[in-house]
Amino acid sequence: MFPLVLSILAGIAAPAAAAAGPSACSNITTQLGSSKVSSNLLSQEYSNSLEYWNALLDDYKPSCVVYPKNAQDVSVMVQAIRAADSRFAIKAGGHNPNTFYSCVDNGVLLDLSDMTEKSYDPHTTLATFQPGGVFGDIYDYFVKYNRTVVGARLAGVGTGLALGGGMSYLSPQYGLACDSFRELEIVLPSGEIVTASEDSNPDLFFASRGGGGNAYGVVTKYTVQSRPVGQFYAGNLIFPFPQKDKVIEAIGNFIKYNTDPKAAIIGTYEKLGTPDLNLNLDEAIIMFLVYDGEDSGDAFKNFTSIPTILNTMSLKTYPEVVNMPIPLSTELSRGANMFRVGVHRPENCSYENALDVWRNWAESNKGRYELLSLDFQPVPKSLTDASKAQGGNAMQMPDGPWYWLNYLLTTPPGMSEPDYKAVQASYRDMIKSVGNAEGLPLFINDANHDQNPLQTFSTFAKLQEIKKTYDPDNFFADRTGGWSFA
Ligand SMILES: Cc1cc2nc3c(=O)[nH]c(=O)nc-3n(C[C@H](O)[C@H](O)[C@H](O)COP(=O)(O)OP(=O)(O)OC[C@H]3O[C@@H](n4cnc5c(N)ncnc54)[C@H](O)[C@@H]3O)c2cc1C
Repeated sequence: MFPLVLSILAGIAAPAAAAAGPSACSNITTQLGSSKVSSNLLSQEYSNSLEYWNALLDDYKPSCVVYPKNAQDVSVMVQAIRAADSRFAIKAGGHNPNTFYSCVDNGVLLDLSDMTEKSYDPHTTLATFQPGGVFGDIYDYFVKYNRTVVGARLAGVGTGLALGGGMSYLSPQYGLACDSFRELEIVLPSGEIVTASEDSNPDLFFASRGGGGNAYGVVTKYTVQSRPVGQFYAGNLIFPFPQKDKVIEAIGNFIKYNTDPKAAIIGTYEKLGTPDLNLNLDEAIIMFLVYDGEDSGDAFKNFTSIPTILNTMSLKTYPEVVNMPIPLSTELSRGANMFRVGVHRPENCSYENALDVWRNWAESNKGRYELLSLDFQPVPKSLTDASKAQGGNAMQMPDGPWYWLNYLLTTPPGMSEPDYKAVQASYRDMIKSVGNAEGLPLFINDANHDQNPLQTFSTFAKLQEIKKTYDPDNFFADRTGGWSFA
């Protein structure tokens, strides 16, 4: 489509000299063998690697894609990229929608998809997994042991999620995905392979727990505390939009008053860009309700008492829970997608204001978007307590309750460049007008590049120091995309 424009929008410099990518690729092929490298633009392997959840990113063409198997392969790659002074990108599940965060033009794409080893130790209850594949595969593996790991709420999302924190249905009980990290194997920007844990490189461990991927090195193995799983009482409730006030009140009350850590929700308001014709067929509210256990008691009573179009609540296994509302929904939602994030306390019914502002924008911008959604993601006190009890993460999350908002904008296919820029700017300005709560961190996993989430962390100065220690010559900062430390 218009890759150069997107790169300018993302505020990222144009790629390094065109010869650097091929030179790094040729060096990597010599060292790792041609079976781990693909530079054939017409091959299925190469084109599979260029599939991103933000389909606009599919257009960037790396000089080659490399499929490492282990930390040693990654180390060879990092050193070859450094020697050639090439650009590069690290791709796990490819769901970050920001330009050059996991895609690259004329450089080396490090596709982690062949790194899928996993293990479970019943004595320590620790689980290990390499960063390839998606959380659905990881859950399928550990469920054999009646265990799981804290990860994505949709099966198709990749492991980069955990480096940005990682909000799970289990988070109210156990904290974010990164809170369960116990040890990471990391290939540093120098190519050195190190262990990060509370005892070994503790500063690197701290920063990697929710401080974002793509910054301090390549994580090649996660060792995490696994969690027990059995049956869940879970499902979707779909409400007609005229119920919006009752549903938002129920969401607000859940954020403020729910104290049962086994109960988790996401509240999503969806709007299609098609005319509504006074039939309300262009909007719906989809609740995701998940209870870890067979009896949810009264936890969801405020939602189930509102009349629905559809109610799929039933007993489910964990793999079924992460495939709601339909299996492969992550893949099906590929398109010209962009995220933005907001953070709020529930005081003064802030959730009602956010919904009103968003809906007014949706009504007055018909035709400029294909799909919009506004997702309410509660951060209860039980979550922030669980995080603290495990040492705290890079956000050092202030006590809940508060909530993150995820704003999705999917633009229509084939939109012109000026129209694309204009609608992105207008959506950004609408979200800015809602404002954010002081003293709370923006969630990296849902943030747009221009929102600079790291700057909202109380730990920002410490993270800047850690970045200097592990990426002293700005190799990652200059050669791949990612969050700004400036
Ligand atoms: C449909 C959908 C559902 C989502 N659901 C959730 C959810 O339930 N909870 C939640 O918290 N977030 C969720 N997200 C947000 C998601 O966490 C982010 O998009 C995240 O970036 C996805 O990780 P990935 O591996 O799929 O993407 P990628 O784009 O491959 O990776 C994300 C970033 O991390 C870097 N990275 C990945 N792996 C490594 C590594 N091993 N070492 C160093 N850097 C690495 C990449 O370079 C990239 O910058 C969702 C997103 C989508 C699109």
